[in-house]
Amino acid sequence: MKYLDEFRDPQAGQRLIAEIRRLATRRWTIMEVCGGQTHSLLRHGIDSELAASVELIHGPGCPVCVTAVEALESARRLSLRGDVTVATFGDMLRVPASCGTLQEARAAGGNVRAVYSPLDAVALARREPDRQVVFFAVGFETTAPATALAVRQAAQFGLANFSLLAAHVRVLPAMEVIAAAPQRRVQGFLAAGHVCTVMGETEYEAFVARTRMPVVVTGFEPVDLLLGIRECVRALEEHQPRVANCYARTAHPCGNQAARQLIDDVYEVCDQEWRGLGTIPSGGLRLRPAWSRFDAWQRWGLRQPESPLPLIEHEACLSGDVLTGRIKPPDCPSFGTACTPEHPCGAPMVSAEGACAAYYRYALPPAAAGV
Ligand code: SF4
Repeated sequence: MKYLDEFRDPQAGQRLIAEIRRLATRRWTIMEVCGGQTHSLLRHGIDSELAASVELIHGPGCPVCVTAVEALESARRLSLRGDVTVATFGDMLRVPASCGTLQEARAAGGNVRAVYSPLDAVALARREPDRQVVFFAVGFETTAPATALAVRQAAQFGLANFSLLAAHVRVLPAMEVIAAAPQRRVQGFLAAGHVCTVMGETEYEAFVARTRMPVVVTGFEPVDLLLGIRECVRALEEHQPRVANCYARTAHPCGNQAARQLIDDVYEVCDQEWRGLGTIPSGGLRLRPAWSRFDAWQRWGLRQPESPLPLIEHEACLSGDVLTGRIKPPDCPSFGTACTPEHPCGAPMVSAEGACAAYYRYALPPAAAGV
């Protein structure tokens, strides 16, 4: 397939690996921001091939992993009300909150539907006008345009039985937190190509000027990743921190104007709780007041002090350390023992983009992983 096969070419990959090894005069520490990139790096063995030249540490870009426990608990409680259907992406169903998962809520009689698109939830609300449908909206700037479109569509259809439990997060504020951490080890970033496809790369200019760390917009195939790593190593070796785009076949410097317009129309930036990381200033998106009639947080009084939610993370889970690159999943004492994909203690072991799941799948010996 054009634009795909050439980015999986083993010979091109080997050439790039050799080039990166030649370029690096010391071992650099680079963070790939997105969980999809983490899985691809481990799956193709790129981390071990480059281990002498580059340490790859894994960032917080797994939306399922960072969705606040408060939001998850709120969705779980809503699903058990009887008059509400909670619709969300399938990945969210097995994520443990403090009182169980959405899947367990469904087994206990809760109404939870997995959908492929927020627009499916709008269609569900139209089909079932006597039930309230709440779409649990998670994800980065990649999913926000579609959830914004769902809100606009619900308004267009005059739906009074549709609302959005918005728990969207923004990637750049999380990078700011990691860059400002006192013991940070990261020296350069591979930015998430799909976020940049929506948002563009220009917002990274000020970040690079402030932090003096290179940011390279990078895709997800092995050659994409190696191109991004090569560019990042080059910038580090030259002591020339800059923004570079190694995903230009998809990510335009200014992003997707229509998608950005949708986000701006429906959402405003807010401080946001990130699971494992705490509250990140400007780290999320909430519905603008003009759309508050679709705000599930308000409609269902979910943040009232008289109905506090138990928000305790599993005591064994070190997801915050994993998501900020302070440790790697095998450093967690529960990894592969108390915590496995079948019995996960934390979200990074559940999600298809979680770093713990990536290590369990690709970096454990087959016998240990039960293969
Ligand atoms: S291995 Fe499990 S318990 Fe440890 S950080 Fe990962 S998800 Fe949490």
